[in-house]
Amino acid sequence: MPSGRSAHLNLGMNSRLPLENAQFDVLVIGGGINGVAIARECARANRRTLLVEQHDFAAGTTSRSTRIIHGGLRYLEQGDFRQVKESLGERQKLLCQYPHLIRPLEFVLALDGESRRSALAVRAGLWLYRRMAGRGIRRRQSEPADFERWLDQGRRFSLFRFEDAQCEFPERLVAEWLVEAVAAGCLARNHTRLLTVTTHHGRATGALLRDEASGREERVEAAWIINAAGPWADQICRSSGVHTPQAMVGGVRGSHLVLEKFPGAPGQAVYAEAVDGRPIFIIPWNDQILVGTTEVPETGDPSQVRPSEEEIRYLLASLGGLFPRLEIARSHIRYAFAGVRPLPYSPQAKPAAIPRRHYFHDHTPDGAAGLISVIGGKLTTAGGVARECAEKIGLRPAILPSVALMCESELDSVLARTVAQVAQLGGITPEAAQAMVEWNGRRASGIASRARRSAQLKQRLCPHTHHIVAEALDAFENQGAVSLADVLLRRVPLALGPCWSPECTRVAAARIAGIQAWDEARMRAELEGFDAEYQAFLEKTGIGVPQGAV
Ligand SMILES: Cc1cc2nc3c(=O)[nH]c(=O)nc-3n(C[C@H](O)[C@H](O)[C@H](O)COP(=O)(O)OP(=O)(O)OC[C@H]3O[C@@H](n4cnc5c(N)ncnc54)[C@H](O)[C@@H]3O)c2cc1C
Repeated sequence: MPSGRSAHLNLGMNSRLPLENAQFDVLVIGGGINGVAIARECARANRRTLLVEQHDFAAGTTSRSTRIIHGGLRYLEQGDFRQVKESLGERQKLLCQYPHLIRPLEFVLALDGESRRSALAVRAGLWLYRRMAGRGIRRRQSEPADFERWLDQGRRFSLFRFEDAQCEFPERLVAEWLVEAVAAGCLARNHTRLLTVTTHHGRATGALLRDEASGREERVEAAWIINAAGPWADQICRSSGVHTPQAMVGGVRGSHLVLEKFPGAPGQAVYAEAVDGRPIFIIPWNDQILVGTTEVPETGDPSQVRPSEEEIRYLLASLGGLFPRLEIARSHIRYAFAGVRPLPYSPQAKPAAIPRRHYFHDHTPDGAAGLISVIGGKLTTAGGVARECAEKIGLRPAILPSVALMCESELDSVLARTVAQVAQLGGITPEAAQAMVEWNGRRASGIASRARRSAQLKQRLCPHTHHIVAEALDAFENQGAVSLADVLLRRVPLALGPCWSPECTRVAAARIAGIQAWDEARMRAELEGFDAEYQAFLEKTGIGVPQGAV
């Protein structure tokens, strides 16, 4: 989560109209999934809304998660029925509203004879989980999992199947919600840092903002200020002189490894116990294998968070303990990344026992009426958090007849039809249309139409992908991207893929430079900015990965 001034950013003039003294009904701080969802909700309720993000939308915790859209079997075990019920409800909404981004995924819970969970309790728990999901996800006829034969035979695993969902790219979900927020009238500014919330006579009245590209500082006024800065929420209060009785966030770091797909790698998500009995996931993700996660109290700057050597060893050892015959080594690691869970401050509790449920802190007693901090939550529940937040400030969440719901049974045929239409509209290959629809849903038609008459826009972004240059253009024009890194890491996130190399970066940058009319100096600056962010986000140093593979 890099911070600091981004000198190379050359932000489009239209999206950077001066803000000095502008007045808003609502100012939302933080463009993670919660902030974007809240801004969208407020704009849809016809409130003049400003959303500011210090770096890029979704560059914080949101892109550091395990990317599962789930009710949380573990929370059921902890007796947090309310959290599970709400999460399952949100899971269903997301599956129906964004079926191109959120897909059902089969999970296999693998427990050995040493587990403290009995088979009976697990079966009862899964029964309850499905009941609570109601209509839920259709159960598939399960094939025997191909990874089973690779499990440690000596540990005599019992396997339990259940259904949940995955959002491979929360970055893309945030981009779609951002487009919806802007369409509803929200003014959204990334690379804009809130320096302080201003208060007057016990009320929050506005904020001082800094444009990270130009360094320009501007004051805005707002009737309501929502602090949705995730793990940075306490920093916002500190820099604003708003004193809370105790810290609001107790950060808990979670790290992941991303490995190349190895022979015997599971096609399902495996949910198992790590070397210390904690739960870990081994998940097929983006043509690679995602292994996570850890829970380590984190008090440092969330922008600097990295996986520690100890966490890397722990995750590798846990994976090796499950699949000893696969001989998974450090050299299989493509990269590792970490994020800080913005959990409610609970100094006495073990990280695993801290409730994942969100809460709102109203700062009226702290001398800042009108300032509300949103603490905690999950990717899964961001939509619900936003509705609740809107109600808290007296808005009625919008009812949207236009939101099309598509359910699983219709999914494949609707997607296939859309892909065929998009291919025809854009005069592009079915593979390019498929790739575009998978990341852009219904918006793909507009992007394809734009590509129709331009060979340049129909070019692939790099030789290994079917994603085309028109998607990058749309990212700049309609999805708030301002830099090469914004595009390749979050709007068209090819750089997270299995075969991304420095050569891919150069090819993509050259093709993007062509449509953005970047000169050589700009191109160099964009490449430097991308490399710095890529290295900072996707940790490679110290984990034994050959640098050539980066
Ligand atoms: C390891 C890990 C695994 C997880 N796995 C899952 C999962 O599988 N499923 C799930 O549902 N949830 C998961 N979560 C939880 C989920 O990722 C988070 O709850 C969610 O992303 C929080 O979103 P947010 O918008 O509150 O915070 P963030 O995404 O961190 O957004 C806050 C934003 O505020 C910005 N900001 C900070 N200070 C300022 C400032 N001064 N001015 C302007 N902007 C500022 C930051 O740059 C940041 O982008 C996981 C979390 C972690 C860490």
